[in-house]
Amino acid sequence: MPVHRTFFCRLLTLAAILIIGFSPQPAAAGQQSAFASGIVTPPAGAAVRGIVPVTGVATGADFAKWQLDLLPAGDAERATFLALGERPVAATDALASFDSAPYADGAYTLRLRVVRRDGNYDEHLTAITIANRAPAPASRPATASAARLVSSRAAALGLPLRTAAGQPILYLTFDDGPTPTLTPQIVELLDRYDAKATFFVVGLHLRRGLAHLRPVAEAGHTIANHTFSHRSLVGRDQAAFAQELDGVEELVRSAAGDLLPADFSLAYLRPPGGGVDANTASTAAALGYRLVGWDIDPKDWRRPGADAISGTVVRQAFPGAIVLLHDGGGGSQQTVAALETILKELSGQGYLFRALP
Ligand SMILES: [Zn+2]
Repeated sequence: MPVHRTFFCRLLTLAAILIIGFSPQPAAAGQQSAFASGIVTPPAGAAVRGIVPVTGVATGADFAKWQLDLLPAGDAERATFLALGERPVAATDALASFDSAPYADGAYTLRLRVVRRDGNYDEHLTAITIANRAPAPASRPATASAARLVSSRAAALGLPLRTAAGQPILYLTFDDGPTPTLTPQIVELLDRYDAKATFFVVGLHLRRGLAHLRPVAEAGHTIANHTFSHRSLVGRDQAAFAQELDGVEELVRSAAGDLLPADFSLAYLRPPGGGVDANTASTAAALGYRLVGWDIDPKDWRRPGADAISGTVVRQAFPGAIVLLHDGGGGSQQTVAALETILKELSGQGYLFRALP
């Protein structure tokens, strides 16, 4: 039943969020670990404008991930996500860069959270001033209007952020399909904009409708693995893990094997709900998979309205960004309508839409 599946999907997502700490809790007093993480540049008190590189250190015991946000005058309710990394940054290095132009001049806080595997985190705050109206510093790079953010995810996967000609690339991904209604509409829309995307399919859905995958393969989109059952991979042993992934690959082969190279194998895995534990990456790698997260999540499965979905994606888009949308698991006509706006508006900004290679 679609309703149950959607509910189940959200439940798993929620469970995974709790497990991997997308809603982490501050470490209790006395539990703070003393590692030298923190933001190095811009230094506290700096006035910035244009493309602002943020460098720092993000490491420590039981490291799970780091996340960088920008808060107007320390107002955590209005935090803007800047970047996230799943690998420790042990020496001072680039964490992200952001364009100050969309922000009103004033006082802001850069917030770096270094999250541990238990969900607790250490927080490092740097007060800065955004001063877009100040005269341009002489050293302002010529490419300042180009990138809003450096994508740590796409870069970590070795994906290009731009074409050789300099055009920004957006990686659209669709999870939890295929479904008989949404998948063909999405494929048709992508076609109209000469866009390629990646479909993270769920085995259970695929088994119910092998035919729905054919248009995806025929159009040359990338098919990727979102597990057979959509159960979290957290805590699963290697055999169960392998079964989840192999089941999908077998179904893809029977659905569209004739359209794919004889030696094809699925290369990318998105764990359900993004849930990972200490073993997920290594087990996935042992099975020949690369983990793919996302940079932009408009939460289309919550059905906030097509405009809200497209607005989030268009506003947050940056070269190399990976966008999470759904052709199953709560995706709806809102997703389809939003996709049309996303394709139209971002094409207008010069974006190309590519599948994971
Ligand atoms: Zn999913």
